[in-house]
Formats: sequence, structure tokens, C-alpha cells
Amino acid sequence: MFNQPNMMDALSDYRAAEYVIFGVPFDGTSSFRAGSRFAPHAMRKASANFESYNAFFDIDLVEVRIHDAGDLEPYASVDATLRDLFYAVEPIAKKGKIPIMLGGEHSLTLPCVKACAKYAGDDLGVVVLDAHFDLRDEYSGLKYNHACVSRHIIDEVTDNYVSIGIRSGSGEEWDFAKENNVRYYTPDDVATKGIKNVLDEVVEYLDCSKIYLSLDMDALDPMFAPALGTPEPFGLDAVDVRDVIRTLAPMSVGFDVVEIAPEYDGGQTAMLGTKLMREFIAAHARAALG
Ligand code: MN
Ligand code: MN
Repeated sequence: MFNQPNMMDALSDYRAAEYVIFGVPFDGTSSFRAGSRFAPHAMRKASANFESYNAFFDIDLVEVRIHDAGDLEPYASVDATLRDLFYAVEPIAKKGKIPIMLGGEHSLTLPCVKACAKYAGDDLGVVVLDAHFDLRDEYSGLKYNHACVSRHIIDEVTDNYVSIGIRSGSGEEWDFAKENNVRYYTPDDVATKGIKNVLDEVVEYLDCSKIYLSLDMDALDPMFAPALGTPEPFGLDAVDVRDVIRTLAPMSVGFDVVEIAPEYDGGQTAMLGTKLMREFIAAHARAALG
């Protein structure tokens, strides 16, 4: 294939794979600035930078069965894209493989969560890293807008839900979170309690053995991740986000990295997102080996 970089160390065929990476180059509802459709390509390119060996977990990714399935062809319509995405992820989850979705925008997380929930049943919690509540019922006349994804996860899949990194929302969203006891942690909470204590609380609160983990990159401070659709200052530290991923990956049945808009920086946001994805795989693979 020409003009299509491969995800480094994704050497497995689909059938044998335990981890299935795929891109969804869709940013049709992005509210401030679009461009996350270019992220899957940027992340595959960035992956060439890294050693396959992860010393922290003593895992060599070339020995892990990772498959890069390429990109899902999006529609112009968000509803049609989300419908196709569900049917793309469903067989991956059914086989017990771990889907790893590279957005694209955050609206894409909902069908991935639904597909994973179908096979995880009630024993599922959802953890979203995000600067934004995403708790609106609809935005700009669109129900499945990227600004509404967490609301639909809670309404349509499970309210066994925690968000980390929250520092932005409408007055109604802050009220909704309080009235409905939505569990969330601001970056100030993380700084005060320490990420390890926050994670202990999260795991105790969710009280489940399976997690779907979604990384909206704007959870990070724009100093670490400036190339975003909706950057929000005073965010999480990259090392704290790495700790979240290292800690929760072993329980995870699905993972995504969304909202990187690579044309707004010199490559560091895609680099960090790709590195965090590789930490996810290494942490999960290490735990699976025991
Ligand atoms: Mn979001
Ligand atoms: Mn966000």
C-alpha cells in the first residue's frame, strides 16, 4: 500500500489478534475546530518513533498479537457513521478481542461502548478522561454530537460511570452531574488527592471487573496536548494520565483515543496519544500474562 503508514508493531493478522486497532477519520460534529479526522494517519506515522520494548512492563509489543485493521470509511452523517461503527466493533468484542479505536471525535465512543457492553453485561464500568462533561442531551440540533457522548453513555448504556479531568461544562451540565450523582474528578481533585488515591476510589466506586476506557485527549493540559478540537487550560498532567491507563488497562475490554486534531501542533499530541495507546496495550498484555 502507498501513502498509508502502518501502525508499528501491529504484526498480527485479524484472526489471531488479541488487540484490534482501527481508525475512524470522522469529525463531522466538532464544535470549535475540526481536524480529528487526520489523527489516525498522524498516530500511525508517530508510532514509527517508538521502541517496541516497554521496560516498565517488560513487554515487547512485537510479541503481542496486535492487528491494525485500517480505517472505517465514515459517512457525512454522524448517525450513519455511528451505526456502521457499532457493526464494525461488535464482532471484535464478540470474539473477546480488545477494540482500540483511534478517532476522530468523541461521538465515536458511544457505539464502541455499546458493542463492548453487549458482551460485558452488567459487570461493566465506563471511565472517560475528558476536560468536558459531554453531558448535554443534544448540541447544535444533533443528539449524537461529540459534546453529548457521556450523557448518552449514561442514558443508553450504564450509569456506572466516572469521568476524570473535568473542568468545563454549561451550568446545566454541572447541575445535571450534581443532581444525578455523576462521579467526576477535576484536575484540582487529582492534584489534591493524588492520582493513585483517585484511582483507588474509582475502582471501588465502579465495583466491576470490566471497564471501557475512553481518552478524550483534551483531558490533558494543552501544554502536553495542544493539537485538539477544543483545548481547555489547566488540565491533567501526562504522567497522571499514563498512571490512569496503566492502572485501568488490565480491566479494560475496550479503549479509544479521540479528539486529536494534528494540524494544530508540530506532532507532539499525536505522539503522546500514540504512546498512551502503546502503554495501554503493554499494561493489558502484561496483566494477561500474569
Ligand atoms: Mn469529549
Ligand atoms: Mn473534551
